[in-house]
Amino acid sequence: MYDYLIVGAGLFGAVFAHEATKRGKKCLVIEKRNHVAGNIYTEDIEGICVHTYGPHIFHTKNKKVWEYVNNLVEFNHYVNCPVAFYKDEVYNMPFNMNTFSRLWGIKTPAEAKAIIQKQI
Ligand SMILES: Cc1cc2nc3c(=O)[nH]c(=O)nc-3n(C[C@H](O)[C@H](O)[C@H](O)COP(=O)(O)OP(=O)(O)OC[C@H]3O[C@@H](n4cnc5c(N)ncnc54)[C@H](O)[C@@H]3O)c2cc1C
Repeated sequence: MYDYLIVGAGLFGAVFAHEATKRGKKCLVIEKRNHVAGNIYTEDIEGICVHTYGPHIFHTKNKKVWEYVNNLVEFNHYVNCPVAFYKDEVYNMPFNMNTFSRLWGIKTPAEAKAIIQKQI
């Protein structure tokens, strides 16, 4: 009856089923959770996208991959700008010269490199 039995409706199972179906194959996807999407699943809680299994951000440098996913789903305008709290101060993440300058009171990459080298 089916060409493929796909266990799990996460990214892999969903993409495989999509691509196989496009090629005329008949797929059955089974999923033990009560939702699709696997670990990238998000719940809409009062208009906020909550990542049930931990935060997920889509990264790619590959234009083909970017176009592929954009043909399937709509992305929101989330911008990742985390900060770190350390000893009552707020610092930029990931670390940059601004972070090092505030942490150590320095001005140049050479000074930052010297301190990092010492700490290594
Ligand atoms: C906390 C966290 C943060 C992450 N952050 C990122 C990120 O920022 N960017 C990124 O690209 N990736 C991130 N990842 C990785 C990403 O989640 C995985 O690469 C991706 O979800 C894997 O997809 P998958 O389909 O292989 O597996 P899964 O998403 O795990 O899907 C597998 C599915 O199979 C189901 N299943 C398993 N066994 C059975 C069974 N016997 N019967 C029925 N169903 C079954 C499961 O319930 C699940 O829904 C993160 C992962 C975690 C845990």
